[in-house]
Amino acid sequence: MEAGGVAHFGWPYSVERMNKKYTGKCLCGGVTYVAEAEPVIVAQCHCEVCRRLSGTGHTVGAMFPASAVSVHGRLSEFRYVSDRRSEVTKAFCPTCGSPVYGKNTRAPDHITLTLGTMDDASGLDVEVVIFERDKAGWDQLGDSVVCFATQPDWTPEG
Ligand SMILES: [Zn+2]
Ligand SMILES: [Zn+2]
Repeated sequence: MEAGGVAHFGWPYSVERMNKKYTGKCLCGGVTYVAEAEPVIVAQCHCEVCRRLSGTGHTVGAMFPASAVSVHGRLSEFRYVSDRRSEVTKAFCPTCGSPVYGKNTRAPDHITLTLGTMDDASGLDVEVVIFERDKAGWDQLGDSVVCFATQPDWTPEG
């Protein structure tokens, strides 16, 4: 919370939520970020790109309005064209390799931060699971989330 935000203590909950900040960093600390909004959606994805990007069974991404996110530090980018012909950019720390965020030309005003790099993601829950059909047998799923075999149009994937 900003210094000015402290004075808001005790204000209605909706005001507190507007002041919410999510901070994060890569493994080595060379890249840091701040998101000053609530995520539009938190999605877990089991597609092949996310499996290889993460080195494990899935990614969990929190999609934010790009205007609410500032990223500091040097990043490397990997770009590819998705099956839907949009350009996807995956940004990662060139020193430690942590995936930090993804962008997609299909949703140019948004940026998806990896939940695992967030300092404190308490209060955020996975709302949907996409590309469930590609899920590796060794990766576990909870039973209470909404799963899509591929992806509905509004999710932040390729
Ligand atoms: Zn790093
Ligand atoms: Zn994916």
